[in-house]
Amino acid sequence: MVQTNVTIDPLSPASPVEKPEIEEVLDLTTGEYRSATELIRSFRYDHLIEERGRVRSALDSAPLYKCALCPSAVYLVSSPEKRFFFRHRHEDGSCPAQTRSALNQDDILARKYQGLRESEPHKRIKELIERSLRADPNFRAESVVQEKRWYVSQDRAQWRQPDVQALRGEQRFVFEAQLSTTFLDVVVGRRDDYRRGGAQLVWIMAGFEPNNRRLTTDDILFSNNSNIFVVDEETCALSETAGEFHLRCSYREPYREGDTLKERWAERVVRFSELTTHLDTQRTFYFDFESSERELWAAMDNELRADFFAFWTASMTPHCATTDVDPWRLLRRRLAARNVPIPERPDADSNFSTMIHGVLSALKGEPVGWQFKKLVQVAHHLAEMYPQHVLAFGHGLAVAGHQDAIEKQDPKGRWRERSEKLKNRLREADAELMPDRDWLPALCFLFPDVGARVAKFLAKAEMRNAA
Ligand SMILES: [Zn+2]
Repeated sequence: MVQTNVTIDPLSPASPVEKPEIEEVLDLTTGEYRSATELIRSFRYDHLIEERGRVRSALDSAPLYKCALCPSAVYLVSSPEKRFFFRHRHEDGSCPAQTRSALNQDDILARKYQGLRESEPHKRIKELIERSLRADPNFRAESVVQEKRWYVSQDRAQWRQPDVQALRGEQRFVFEAQLSTTFLDVVVGRRDDYRRGGAQLVWIMAGFEPNNRRLTTDDILFSNNSNIFVVDEETCALSETAGEFHLRCSYREPYREGDTLKERWAERVVRFSELTTHLDTQRTFYFDFESSERELWAAMDNELRADFFAFWTASMTPHCATTDVDPWRLLRRRLAARNVPIPERPDADSNFSTMIHGVLSALKGEPVGWQFKKLVQVAHHLAEMYPQHVLAFGHGLAVAGHQDAIEKQDPKGRWRERSEKLKNRLREADAELMPDRDWLPALCFLFPDVGARVAKFLAKAEMRNAA
């Protein structure tokens, strides 16, 4: 089939248009002004599509971004080439940046959408959905209806007219056919209304080609944990023979190739009862793409950490014993791919090696990488020579529950006295004790628990400074 849609690799970075009218936006969540193009580029394509939905959904109640030059909230729009830019919620001509052309694209889409709802393909897919539901006794037969008003709340003014709806037990499911120009307002508006009314929305397509996707398909796909459902003649016939609602599900399936994450499209026919539904997010999926992706990353991270510590233990404890830096170079490359810099050689930066040894000692409850006999000696050494690592060391003790060990080695209370003073200085964000920024990513990656606490401390200290 001829490819008619610009289809973007979900894992690639999102692209902004070249010269956006709105160059800068205010991120209302963080209170930061951001360059629109940089902001867009900072997202992976699939994540930006999700963000687009969130932005649209919040636009009227609590906008996420506003224009830097005027009071208007802004939302994310895509060019036909799937390059993104921000547009004003209200365009009254008062802003130097004007993003709406005379022909309002949204109005055109809305009209085209209404027209399509009357179309033959739409009637056919509704019919197929209804037949599939009627075949399945889990859906109450009398509840299966097409195009019937459903009231979102007690307020009779608020209603929706789902393509097909049905009750499964007490749970209401609404099935909306995705038409070729279903646009983001519709997608988001329905999702919000059905959530509010306690009904579960399931988008159904008449067909799906992973490599020829419309943006509107992406809007549904990426906000639905990367699962798309198709009901066609074949699934409908199967539902009728099996006496159970079947759908064709296409989903992204991540897999590992060495240290990188790849993905492929998978498709299979599934029973409705095999699907996971989340009312609060309005997601319905067969394959849990997000969890699967997260688990693969976690496994790869654990491996990389284990490889790092294996090398470090063999080569750097009790002191630098390595002349072969090839394994280190490889570790360095693998970590760089995670945006985690480490020094050129394991012993090239005493600030780095002391951080690693300090936290390892705290976690182990005994000196690692030093000739010291006692943990308390490590503590004093850090306080005197490497005060920037005292906080990480302290959190290491707390995480591993080794505060007692150090107290037992401190009969005269010298460390206790010293650590009290250090705590007070940390509270005042004493510059000398501020954790090292250069190696913070390494700390966070290699020691996630300790790193998270140190990063949190730094973020707070920064907010205080800014205030
Ligand atoms: Zn503006």
